[in-house]
Amino acid sequence: MPTLRRGFKTWCENAARGYRRDLGIPPIGPLDPRQLAAHLGIEIWTPNDIPGLSADDIFHLTHTAKDSWSAATIRHGDESLIITNSGHAQTRQNNSIAHEIGHIVLTHEPAKMFVTPDGLMMMSEYNATHEDEANWFAGAVLVPRDGLIDALRKGVTDLVVARQYGVSEALIKMRRNLTGVDRQLSRRRGTWAP
Ligand SMILES: [Zn+2]
Repeated sequence: MPTLRRGFKTWCENAARGYRRDLGIPPIGPLDPRQLAAHLGIEIWTPNDIPGLSADDIFHLTHTAKDSWSAATIRHGDESLIITNSGHAQTRQNNSIAHEIGHIVLTHEPAKMFVTPDGLMMMSEYNATHEDEANWFAGAVLVPRDGLIDALRKGVTDLVVARQYGVSEALIKMRRNLTGVDRQLSRRRGTWAP
């Protein structure tokens, strides 16, 4: 992962705390990204909600070709709409939705987009830096660093933490790695060693 801009990670942890405060969620409590989207005025759809899509199209998007996409954002003026792949596990959808929210709140401009005749902008690709930022944002919002530290101190398994936060075990492992909490805790344990 390329270096994120200075202060970005801290900004994300602060945003995660701020959103929890706004939503009345304890600082290290689980946050449902759908609830966050509603709070931010972002609508969430699945392919079933897209007007004019045939049953075949929906089946294609959520079954046959479900591995080819996670989520997309459609912008119309100041309003944003996220389409999530309902063919994916809820844990993956949570990450995809939080990722798309990241692109929206960080006002990322897509590298590629598609504009429909009625002025809807379909965001498809972002540059690598923006992808990394959205990934980091999603991880921090879903699994705050302090929550991770708390769980590790209690000796809870990754699977249990993943269930608690509604995310995949892979995301927990990635957060443990990238946030440096493992190193931080093992250093501390080191000081307690005889
Ligand atoms: Zn993205």
